[in-house]
Amino acid sequence: MIPFALAIHGGAGTITKEIDPAPYLAVLHDSLDAGYAVLSSGGSALDAVSAAVLILEDSPLYNAGRGAVYNHETRHELDAAVMDGANRKAGAVGGATKIRNPVLAARAVMEHSPHVLLTGDGANHFAAEHGLKMVENAWFNTDHRLKQLQQAQQKNRIQLDFSDDDAVETGTVGAVALDANGNLAAATSTGGLTNKAAGRVGDTPIIGAGTYAENGICAISATGTGDEIIRIVMAHDIANRIKYLGEDIETATDYSLQQLKSLNGDGGLIAVTHDGTIHMPFISRGM
Ligand code: ASP
Repeated sequence: MIPFALAIHGGAGTITKEIDPAPYLAVLHDSLDAGYAVLSSGGSALDAVSAAVLILEDSPLYNAGRGAVYNHETRHELDAAVMDGANRKAGAVGGATKIRNPVLAARAVMEHSPHVLLTGDGANHFAAEHGLKMVENAWFNTDHRLKQLQQAQQKNRIQLDFSDDDAVETGTVGAVALDANGNLAAATSTGGLTNKAAGRVGDTPIIGAGTYAENGICAISATGTGDEIIRIVMAHDIANRIKYLGEDIETATDYSLQQLKSLNGDGGLIAVTHDGTIHMPFISRGM
């Protein structure tokens, strides 16, 4: 049996105020436990990353699912993706407004449709038809996110969750895993950027940008300024540097994060390689 491996993230950025980290850490621990339970009982990497992200989506503390940030129109549009490195099947939703757990909808798109990415009302309808929990958009409302939107609008900024010095919240979520059968998988979920335009879709549900997994190479979940991450096709670029140039994960991710920086982007990623090496680099002030 080869070893299994699991890594999770709660988004790029910095917690600058005096806050009690305990509730944030508790949710991260629950998420790791959920993924670990799957992997340690011989379950798949795909099930592990789904289980880990599900816990983070249900917490109001992270910018995914329940705690999603607001867009410019004071609404929530959620993005999520999953990818199975074993067969390179992938599923994603973009701009979902009524799906309680976008990661489950992404998984349903992968397993029950011929498509990779469904957006907006189409994604909502698909999730409802497949029996997922649906909620009104206001279910994602939280006071702390509203305050962040108001601050961002006052400063006329579109902002990465923690990029404001006053921000105290954590961000986008993701998980990567290697299971005991050598299969890799990745999942990422987000509310996107505070004050983003209505209809804007970020890197998270774009396969190869914010989320990617390929057996024998690596699985990656990214966080950060998604528009720049899309422009450098970050996750797939890292996998290809390993695949075609023979780079190790440190060298490949360093290169990609420098590319991100060169476009004035910000962020980081978690990666697990085919041999279970975990690497979690970032260029944001924290992650
Ligand atoms: N990458 C996400 C986006 O641009 C945001 C984040 O990672 O916090 O939608």
